[in-house]
Amino acid sequence: MPADEDYEGLLAAYGSPLYVYDLARVRQAYADLAGSLPEGARVYYSLKANPHPGLVAELVRAGAHAEITSRGELASALEAGCAAGELLYSGPGKTAGELDEAVARGVRAFSAESFGDLERIGAAAVAHGATADCVLRVNAAGAPGDAGLRMTGSASQFGSDPEILLAAPERLRVPGARVVGLHFFPLTNARDEEGLVAEIVQSIRTAAELRDRLGLALRLVDLGGGFAAPYAVPGERPRYPGLRAAVTEALDTSLPGWRSGTPVIAFESGRHLVGDCGTLLTTVTDVKDSKGTRFAVLDAGVNHLGGLSGLGRLLPMKARPLGGDGGNGDNGGNDGSAAGEPERVTLAGPLCTPADLLGRAVELPGLGPGSVLAFPNVGAYGLTASLLGFLGHRAPAEVLIDGAEVVSASRLALHRHRITAAAKPEQRTGTGESDMSEQWDASYENLLKEVLPRLAEQDTVLPDTSLKSVGLDSLAMVEVLIRIEHEYALDIPDEDLVPGVFATPATLWTLIQRSRERSGSAA
Ligand SMILES: *Cc1c(COP(=O)(O)O)cnc(C)c1O
Repeated sequence: MPADEDYEGLLAAYGSPLYVYDLARVRQAYADLAGSLPEGARVYYSLKANPHPGLVAELVRAGAHAEITSRGELASALEAGCAAGELLYSGPGKTAGELDEAVARGVRAFSAESFGDLERIGAAAVAHGATADCVLRVNAAGAPGDAGLRMTGSASQFGSDPEILLAAPERLRVPGARVVGLHFFPLTNARDEEGLVAEIVQSIRTAAELRDRLGLALRLVDLGGGFAAPYAVPGERPRYPGLRAAVTEALDTSLPGWRSGTPVIAFESGRHLVGDCGTLLTTVTDVKDSKGTRFAVLDAGVNHLGGLSGLGRLLPMKARPLGGDGGNGDNGGNDGSAAGEPERVTLAGPLCTPADLLGRAVELPGLGPGSVLAFPNVGAYGLTASLLGFLGHRAPAEVLIDGAEVVSASRLALHRHRITAAAKPEQRTGTGESDMSEQWDASYENLLKEVLPRLAEQDTVLPDTSLKSVGLDSLAMVEVLIRIEHEYALDIPDEDLVPGVFATPATLWTLIQRSRERSGSAA
């Protein structure tokens, strides 16, 4: 745990507000969870909780796999160095376009939420001459303790009801998609071990019953998770000391091949793995009184933390002042530290909406402009679960530390880039040729594909594909540039090679066009 002086040093170096993530805590959380699960069980890290590539990379190094649900999470996982073939792509509403891109990048394992989802996954795989391994997500949530399949779970937008699967097993035979297992995710943030274990045991029984009644050869059973963590309040991750023995026994009874890996048993976790690694430091910019209420206005609000609170999903948060807990005699207030007797204060963020509150009538030592507050346990569902785009404030820097060492520092940014309208259906050739043929010539597309094999795997070279995400590193940049200069007989001056030009096929093509116009007019 960093000391307050360390936090102060980081704030001085990277500015406020600031997210600090401690990789040592991530490793500890993974080790604790792996030690609570049946031996050898796979743990998927759900990037939903925090897609920071540095956190993903640390978890994968520790032994986790990555579970993703979108283009953005796919990009983060690849940036973290995950092998595409090891990812599990899940989530409702996967579009044909997202699936096509995922298969093109090498993703081969999907959770299918419905018959329709399974068909779209299969179609994307067929289009790339691949086979997708699918786990069927089952909606089997409900009060634990029933025997056998629960046919009366509540309605859910997630997964398929068991009775719907059993009524039409022929719909599981889909070209391009091979059903290899089952996926459960019945609860989240379960503090009560007994209830959690009962739910997992129930999922195991349901898996065995569906295996028998659907005739499935189970290779992967993802039992979900629901492992809890405190959020934005002090406290410790709960531990699950009895889980391993109880779940192991249920597996031995219902899925006896699991010890030799048929099926592989997996769990998923987001908040439990990264929640306690993160701290948000925020600075008071203004303190004022209104009709008997004292407000401290912070430089971070629901745009940076607690964006889900608008949905009524979050319990009250609890910050603490940095630089002592108010009792230190040397906190005169001039240095910005909080000082003095506790008083009631409402913590407001910088947004122009009364909904931007991070604390209502909380007790804190006297705050003044410059006082720093620390929100603990915000490594999960912090920055990216917030209203980052609302009012356009800059995102906080995110610093990864490992012990005393700063491993990386970065800042997320939302930026707008130009896109081009897709060709109208009647203009499409339907021959599988690039729809983008009007935008650039074939030799440009070919030279990009030659240097970037991962781009060549995609049916269509899209103008706004991130070239970095398909493998453009500094070596490839030099290679691309040499080929462009050769192909178009250009000599592109160094001062034209500003950072953005290599961002996408479209930005690079713009540079070529500009250079050609210039050399044309000079000639
Ligand atoms: C949200 C979610 C997770 C992660 O949940 P945590 O409570 O953060 O562990 C895992 N799997 C699925 C399917 C989810 O929707």
